[in-house]
Amino acid sequence: MKTVLPLALAVAALAAAAPAQEHGVGYDDTPFLPGGRWRVHDKDRPVPPVVTPGAGAGLGTAPPADAIVLYDGHGFAAWDKEWREVEGGAMEVRGGDIRSRRAFADCQLHLEWRAPVMAERSSQGKGNSGVFLMDRYEIQVLDSWRNRTYADGQAAAIYGQKPPDVNACRPPGEWQSYDIVFTAPRFAADGSLTAPAVVTVFHNGVLVHDHVPLLGATVHRALPSYQAHGPAPLRLQDHGDPVQYRNVWIRPLGGAGAPEAAGGR
Ligand code: MG
Repeated sequence: MKTVLPLALAVAALAAAAPAQEHGVGYDDTPFLPGGRWRVHDKDRPVPPVVTPGAGAGLGTAPPADAIVLYDGHGFAAWDKEWREVEGGAMEVRGGDIRSRRAFADCQLHLEWRAPVMAERSSQGKGNSGVFLMDRYEIQVLDSWRNRTYADGQAAAIYGQKPPDVNACRPPGEWQSYDIVFTAPRFAADGSLTAPAVVTVFHNGVLVHDHVPLLGATVHRALPSYQAHGPAPLRLQDHGDPVQYRNVWIRPLGGAGAPEAAGGR
């Protein structure tokens, strides 16, 4: 026997059947990024293809002799506050962003992070944290394993500017790594920008940004811009989720050819 659904029921059934990722995963009212193709956090910007990283790739990279170890599993001497130290030599987000006591500019950075299992969460609400170079340029930390969000806000994105070239995320509960090469922006004496910041990022050993110029400090729902600044701390974000970090070390760069050696910046 054929049953005819009342219209309201049918609509409700359709809405319930729509995939959750159709909702709350981006915007269509934000400004366009340079180039005019995609808006900031554009809901229609394609997400990058998934690439499963090699088993263990990027993990346990011991710091070279000239690295500054910011976190080796014990203590917060290198930081402006303490997070929660957890079993296994890791620190867990708690009580606000954490900043390195030392300021940095050009650098090579290695760190490992782990998103909690938060099955009930989605999009930006799932394992959100962030790595802010010079206190203002965020490489996003997020559980982007089978978790749809706006492309420029997923794990390893230059937040609000550029998605990673591929999604090399591991599942929540597993350790992941970022290896970052960062060139600080250069400013003239009058504060105008002479060269943008440039970043190269490996996520779990997979190249996801290759020498990409930044458009300015990373911001939410707005166009990025630059304001002149000098060396600044590394900042890790407290976005309310218990994300963990370990094996954090940094190598300041800048040999004889670096602009600051010639008096610039
Ligand atoms: Mg974040």
